[in-house]
Amino acid sequence: MNNHLDYNNFGQRTVLTIYAHADDEVLPAAGTLSLMSKAGWNVLCLILTDGSLSSSSIKGTRHQEADAAGKIIGANYEFHALEECNFSTQAVIKVAEEAIGRWHPDLIITHAPQPEKYGHRDHEVCAIAVSNVATRKNIPLWYSAPPVFLRDFEPNFFVDITSVIQEKVAAIGCYESEANKAFMQLDAILILSRFWARELGHKDGYFEAFEISRQWVDASFFTAIANSNKQVIKQDWLGI
Ligand SMILES: [Zn+2]
Repeated sequence: MNNHLDYNNFGQRTVLTIYAHADDEVLPAAGTLSLMSKAGWNVLCLILTDGSLSSSSIKGTRHQEADAAGKIIGANYEFHALEECNFSTQAVIKVAEEAIGRWHPDLIITHAPQPEKYGHRDHEVCAIAVSNVATRKNIPLWYSAPPVFLRDFEPNFFVDITSVIQEKVAAIGCYESEANKAFMQLDAILILSRFWARELGHKDGYFEAFEISRQWVDASFFTAIANSNKQVIKQDWLGI
């Protein structure tokens, strides 16, 4: 398994997202996942619960909605049936370890850890458990922005999703059973995406924000820099 993320290698890579509920993945990351898919990444979205306790009473609807969203952003879905508002970190760790064993992801994306009073209890449990597994298995991990209550979220990595903003909106629109929620409204989605652009000093465009939990470079990174510096120094020295 690759234990660091090589942004310069465009070979087949796998990103595994692990979220508590279907729709958690598209709100913060649909644009980024779509760009990854277009760049040849294998995009897998693991959903811990099947939506039977959500606002939609029709079991199976969330699966269909997720599949429709997946077609737009180029992702495949895997549903698990942990009990909403009642699953344990141990249960998530088991599911995550099994999925990692099957898919060998180069990158994992999950919820940002949030104190329970601000976020959904399931998001917090998922974040803690997935962080635990990714750390032990030495897999790069990104936390995505919470849909509301951004307290304690400290983004340090931003993806320009301007070219795929319509796909993000369309993917979110697939979740018709959740359409009445405030943070699912089109203006809220665009405003938050534009907010991240403004954080970066861009007047226009749309971005998604992540907090990179763990990332490292190996020695070859510094060798490459040293070699390129050497060339520059040599050229200067020779007056070229
Ligand atoms: Zn959720």
